[in-house]
Amino acid sequence: MNEIQKHKLVRLKKQSRSYKEIASALSISESTIKSFHRRQKLKSKEVYTVCKNCGAELEKRCGSKKFCSDLCRYKWWRKNTEGNREYLKINVCKNCSKKFKSYDNKERKYCSHECYINDRFKKQEREIRL
Ligand SMILES: [Zn+2]
Ligand SMILES: [Zn+2]
Repeated sequence: MNEIQKHKLVRLKKQSRSYKEIASALSISESTIKSFHRRQKLKSKEVYTVCKNCGAELEKRCGSKKFCSDLCRYKWWRKNTEGNREYLKINVCKNCSKKFKSYDNKERKYCSHECYINDRFKKQEREIRL
């Protein structure tokens, strides 16, 4: 196939003509068209990725971008973090007795690192007094 034929093929395909119609219009075989079209599809998959938030096509040569814009990135992260995350259980802090949610299966005894430190100090003090 020469460039002109390729060009025509793409145009005819856009008009959603059948392979048969295109084949007779360009006087080439149907199988040539099919394989050309398959290659085109593969190529377009390589070039484009899709914005994770809005589904807009992205050009791969802009690096490994996952979003079409910073706004989409922001929206997506908001949708997929904190507020929406399912917590697995409610724990009670050993230090301040505050209830807190945990988002994983680990056994957590303190609501924060501060409480962890505070409780350790208290324990040490108790031990010293004894
Ligand atoms: Zn987007
Ligand atoms: Zn606490």
